[in-house]
Amino acid sequence: MLYKPRYLADGKTMPRRRMLETKLGSKDRNGWLSQPLSALNGVGTVVSSRALELGIHTVGDLLNYPPFRYEDFSTIRQLEHVAIGEEATARVEVKSCKVRPTRRRSLKILECDVSDETGTVKAVWYNQDYLAEKLVPGVVILIHGKLEKGRGGLLFKVRAHEFSTVKEGLDTNGIHTLGLVPVYPSTEGLTTRKLRQMIWQLQDRVAYVADPIPASLLTELELPRRGDALKSLHFPVSEQDATTARNRLVVEELLVQQLAVATRRRVRQKRSKASKLGKPGSFVERWLSTLPFELTGDQKRAINDLEGSLDSNMAMQKILMGEVGSGKTVIALYAMLRAVEAGGQAALMAPTETLAKQHFQTVESLTGRLLKIGLLTGSTAEKERRGMHVGLRDGSIRLIVGTHALIESDVLFKDLRLTVVDEQHRFGVKQRAALDVKGRKGLVPHLLHMTATPIPRTLALTVYGDLDLITLRELPKGRRTVKTWLVPENKRTGAYGFIRDELRKGRQCYIICPLIEESERLEATAVAAELKRLAMGELSDFKVEAMHGKMNSRQKESTMADFVSGDIDVLVATSVVEVGIDVPNATVIVIEEADRYGLSQLHQLRGRIGRGTHESFCLLFADPCSDLAQQRMEAIVSCQDGFELAETDLKLRGEGEILGTRQSGMPELRVARLPRDQQILARVRKIAESILDRDEDLELSEHHMLRELVHLELREQGSVALAA
Ligand code: ADP
Ligand code: MG
Repeated sequence: MLYKPRYLADGKTMPRRRMLETKLGSKDRNGWLSQPLSALNGVGTVVSSRALELGIHTVGDLLNYPPFRYEDFSTIRQLEHVAIGEEATARVEVKSCKVRPTRRRSLKILECDVSDETGTVKAVWYNQDYLAEKLVPGVVILIHGKLEKGRGGLLFKVRAHEFSTVKEGLDTNGIHTLGLVPVYPSTEGLTTRKLRQMIWQLQDRVAYVADPIPASLLTELELPRRGDALKSLHFPVSEQDATTARNRLVVEELLVQQLAVATRRRVRQKRSKASKLGKPGSFVERWLSTLPFELTGDQKRAINDLEGSLDSNMAMQKILMGEVGSGKTVIALYAMLRAVEAGGQAALMAPTETLAKQHFQTVESLTGRLLKIGLLTGSTAEKERRGMHVGLRDGSIRLIVGTHALIESDVLFKDLRLTVVDEQHRFGVKQRAALDVKGRKGLVPHLLHMTATPIPRTLALTVYGDLDLITLRELPKGRRTVKTWLVPENKRTGAYGFIRDELRKGRQCYIICPLIEESERLEATAVAAELKRLAMGELSDFKVEAMHGKMNSRQKESTMADFVSGDIDVLVATSVVEVGIDVPNATVIVIEEADRYGLSQLHQLRGRIGRGTHESFCLLFADPCSDLAQQRMEAIVSCQDGFELAETDLKLRGEGEILGTRQSGMPELRVARLPRDQQILARVRKIAESILDRDEDLELSEHHMLRELVHLELREQGSVALAA
């Protein structure tokens, strides 16, 4: 066995872990990895269901669950050698134990006289009086904590402890209090302690885990085998050991992901034929020349970029990323008109009715009376809808804007050549795929996704290739910046006075309530309370309404419509306020507890104002207690560039924390962290391409495991092309 003792305790090694009775059959070597968690000692239905919340279904998932840091408890110390003020771990025997009530009802102190062969101290626990019945004289425990001088002598303040006993055939000595102790992200009802106990049981098997990375590649990259890496991840001998292990797992995770991204692109390119749209002709040229404004440099580049793909039989799949107001619709319309000019049809699908209508209006105003445009949503009247269906089938409607209503099975196109999907992450995989099959037989429409959520480039590249991404960073000329202020609490009253002035001028205002991540219900309650407070107090002269995630979509749409039309002066809302909604008359947004939001999200919220001709103001209330929160507040006040803010956010918080990441369809990374691992990413990206150049379908036997993982990843990413 490769087992290395993790630590030496006063010169002795800890007893060997008992080998768990696992049949490591030669064929299904890793069968145990797919066992349910309940196969482990001490795991019942409660723990299993808590583990599910952390994404842990099987024993294998548990092994893949990385600690986010380690605590260094190093070795067992003898009590007489521990200095006052020092943190240490000791193995002690309980001599006596009592619970001492204090004057404060909420505080109970548990005091135990404990000793080892060198001395005795008083060990104290706070509010853990339930331990008293276990800490009977004679019991041996490991305690980790700090030695301090108390009034009645030396006190050992216990931060972690464990019972030094053999339980259920498993010696759990020193899991929690010795050596480098992993700290796992935990959840209510499933503590990092419990996770440690569970993973501990796998320690003898972990080295036998099969390795998806071919041995030759491992040698080339000088990386440890998977089993060894997992072992070092959970039971590291040193920090260095843990770091190497982590890097190896990062390579694996990103490799699988990049293979999936590259495979998806290759498959789509090969299998999905689209119709060539030819070169732009006089129709599109004329349209461009009639636009009432000059295109921005980024818009021109975006058009060039599209041109590289439209006159091709390979189905285009690009994502157009640009913050609110950057002028994405013009680009989308350009692509659509190219399809129309080539004799085909084009469709634009938006996630909500309000957004669809808004797009429809923009498209209408940008095309003048050039051609007939349809609008098809859930609330389109029956007769009109039937007319629309006919028009799409006979080709008299060339350009259509709509919602999910577009993908219903009775909507058939004569010759759909290009589709645009706005905020694609808000559609399910199936819904996105549904437009793909509406092209002419055997042909797939070219596809353009649009998103108003700028994602840092490094992050975007984990999902999209270089060539798939078009960004609009530059805002059209004359766009006003939004004045952003961090308002101290003692100026709150003044702030409401300012808002009333704006409202009296006829402007409108958003008020965004504190983020309550866990619960839409609580958030709704908070919104209702704030609404009441304002409507009866500071803003009683105005029409104030609420909007939150607990309202059904009809209620939301109708409230939004009233706000758009100006019937509502102030909208008290959660962060659910439609992304991309356009109310040029709204000039103030108030964000409560702004420090709880990520930068990107704050910027998104701020993007809801500053869309008209009036000067606009973003008022942030916050109590940034940490340095990071302070830095975030400074960034949002001083910077107006969504891409820059996204990068800053990534740097300050890491990608896992970036709100909206999940919504934007980014896969979750388990071990890798960006931007920290971006160099590994760049390298792995090249490796993935070169593997596929040699073995496109991953059919070589050395790639078999990779292939399985890649297919799994593709299924998770919701690959349409590879659904077969
Ligand atoms: P987005 O969809 O990216 O939020 P839109 O495409 O809706 O932005 O554009 C916002 C507004 O800006 C529209 O009214 C559009 O006509 C206008 N616009 C687009 N491009 C330009 C430009 N280059 N110069 C001035 N105005 C522009
Ligand atoms: Mg838009």
